[in-house]
Amino acid sequence: MQPFKFIRAQDSHAAITAALTNNAKFIAGGTNMIDLMKLNIEKPTQVIDINGLKLDKIEIFSNGTIRIGALVKNSDLAYHPTIIKSYPVLSEALLSGASAQLRNMATVGGNLLQRTRCPYFYDTTYPCNKRAPGSGCSALNGYNRNNAVLGTSDKCIATHPSDMCVALAALGAVIHVQSDSGVREIPFNEFHLLPGETPQFETTLKHGELIIAVDIPAIAYGARSHYLKVRDRASYEFALSSAAVALDIKNGRILTARVALGGIGTKPWRSLAAEKVLMGAVNNEQSYRTAAEAALSGAKPYQHNAFKIELAKRTLVRALATVGGMS
Ligand SMILES: Cc1cc2nc3c(=O)[nH]c(=O)nc-3n(C[C@H](O)[C@H](O)[C@H](O)COP(=O)(O)OP(=O)(O)OC[C@H]3O[C@@H](n4cnc5c(N)ncnc54)[C@H](O)[C@@H]3O)c2cc1C
Ligand code: SF4
Repeated sequence: MQPFKFIRAQDSHAAITAALTNNAKFIAGGTNMIDLMKLNIEKPTQVIDINGLKLDKIEIFSNGTIRIGALVKNSDLAYHPTIIKSYPVLSEALLSGASAQLRNMATVGGNLLQRTRCPYFYDTTYPCNKRAPGSGCSALNGYNRNNAVLGTSDKCIATHPSDMCVALAALGAVIHVQSDSGVREIPFNEFHLLPGETPQFETTLKHGELIIAVDIPAIAYGARSHYLKVRDRASYEFALSSAAVALDIKNGRILTARVALGGIGTKPWRSLAAEKVLMGAVNNEQSYRTAAEAALSGAKPYQHNAFKIELAKRTLVRALATVGGMS
């Protein structure tokens, strides 16, 4: 680990001012940052502890919007009564991630920015375009069983590892960020970037911007939602594939659907194609399978991960059947 200056910020303004220094980084729960610093992947010269900022509230507005402060712990959000009742997909996604101890430390803001779990990214003896731009991608022709099949490029095929983000993508969340020039809102689908030619850039967050909150706009049918995660072992493991779904069903027809996939995309993968198939369809296995085919239609397999395409389809069908049943 490199030497660094440690600052405890008392308010957003102080945190943002300190963050404008070259190579400064915020730290919240530290569950990803500390590992990255120990491995010399992140080498900040200035670390700004933001835990003193008052960003740990969950507010519910009269129009039904839920505002989640960036420092709300993953476990507090998962066990919030309104989230459990109105958006089980989010609670289930959070509780499927990491371990109880990690969830007690991890924050919403940190979860949005957690780095990939591609093994070559963490092993600094291997080339990795995300960690060392221009050095090459070891996963392309290496052991890529856990890598992505959607949104990849010939520069990077790393999956986005977050469970929470898959649920937030399905729910159409909005991220609030603050800089020295004010506050701006970023729709969830515009927050994470595809790797393209520059996999080192992962989000549209600018240097020095602080995530202050995430909004979930009201979704009347949010209670009919579910997160299904498939992984190599039952707990303490990242997704091989996952699906976050919400369905509005009346008289055997799906009026509206929300669909997002995890474990298979280079970013949390909202599938508008699957949602379009489901809108107006009968809630039966054939509709769910057609939606799954649409969701994975652009998928590109690599040497060791072709199985993920069928696995992701089956994950989505099962998640939809759990929420929508079969008519
Ligand atoms: C063993 C292990 C298993 C895990 N398993 C899973 C899993 O199954 N599913 C899953 O989804 N996750 C999993 N995780 C990841 C975990 O969810 C993340 O590490 C955690 O959410 C990060 O939150 P944090 O508050 O600790 O972030 P930190 O480590 O403090 O920060 C992470 C990044 O976010 C930045 N940051 C933090 N807060 C802000 C802010 N408000 N504004 C701007 N930048 C900010 C930091 O600068 C840093 O770059 C696992 C982690 C570990 C260590
Ligand atoms: S997939 Fe991305 S993170 Fe993994 S080795 Fe290639 S460039 Fe690095």
